[in-house]
Amino acid sequence: MEALREAIGQEALVARLAERADTGTLAHAMLFTGAPGRGGLALALALARRLHCTSKAQPEACGSCPSCQQHDQLQHPDLHFTFPVIKPPGKDKALSSDQLGTWRSMLREVGPHFDMTDLRDRMALGNKQPFISVHEAADVLRRLSLTAHAGGWKVQVIWGAQSMRTDTANKLLKVIEEPPAKTLFILLADSTENILATILSRTQIVPIPPVAVEDATSWLEGLGVAGDRIEDAVALGEGDLARCRRMAMEDTAGEFAMFVDWMRTCFARDGRKAAALADGFHDLGREDQKQFLAYALHMVRQCIVGNYGAAVAVRLRASERGFAEKFAPYIHHGNVVDMQMELEKAARDVTGNVYGRTVFLDLSMRMMELLHRPR
Ligand SMILES: [Zn+2]
Repeated sequence: MEALREAIGQEALVARLAERADTGTLAHAMLFTGAPGRGGLALALALARRLHCTSKAQPEACGSCPSCQQHDQLQHPDLHFTFPVIKPPGKDKALSSDQLGTWRSMLREVGPHFDMTDLRDRMALGNKQPFISVHEAADVLRRLSLTAHAGGWKVQVIWGAQSMRTDTANKLLKVIEEPPAKTLFILLADSTENILATILSRTQIVPIPPVAVEDATSWLEGLGVAGDRIEDAVALGEGDLARCRRMAMEDTAGEFAMFVDWMRTCFARDGRKAAALADGFHDLGREDQKQFLAYALHMVRQCIVGNYGAAVAVRLRASERGFAEKFAPYIHHGNVVDMQMELEKAARDVTGNVYGRTVFLDLSMRMMELLHRPR
């Protein structure tokens, strides 16, 4: 199961944590922060494997002892996974254990470098928002109160920890502060932003750095991505392997065409067309709306970077570059800050369940004004 051993580009961090484990100085609760595609989960798996390995081959797990073999099969009895899920039809609790099969198949087939978008797709959630419920917290407490099967470390991974509800986090506070002996909590989140302060103060924060360009490049090569797509994908992926893979596999031509059409409509102050486009955006559904807004924000940022003469820093595909060059003069320091704020606000509104049509119509009206604002 080679895919599970790849803590790409994060080998130094694995070695450092393993050393802390050996010297008994490992924090009992850590929060790995950074986009999931930077490899936090791979790191957590490598560390758990290392802690459970019965032959203390330094500095890595041996790969052949019974414990390492259980890790290969994702069946180690003292490695527990919690991740965001929804309530299955006909059940009254949202528990990770009900979706463990999906989680394992994801890890087996895709490897540890996936993100929430990948997991949502695999779980076929549609527009439903997965979360970590208070019932899951009770499950965690129950699991950790049992004796470790092998008499060693119990490792509880909480992936997507930002999806913990407040009552979930509160229920876990005490055990995170004072875990039973030989219990390790590894929480993973995009950032510290949506984590309760009381959880933050009880965990050691370990920032996961972006994956280096050369590591991301050879990883994509290993996946069999066509050579001519790799450079763009790595540039757009920004050290996040899940994003790099998506950029390499996905065609953003649709988003680009929509963006161009929308910007032309706003520039022409065509209210009737803007209303029709708002209907189209509405019908995309919440996740695609968010993705489009993120793309629009990316394009606006790239235009301003291009304007300030840092053309080499512009992260655009060849097809996008032509449009961006023509469009860039209309984005300047007199309107760019407001444009970004409006796009970010629209994304928040979409997340907060504001009616899609209203969000996009308001946003278009603001863009019409901003695009014509003098420099
Ligand atoms: Zn081993």
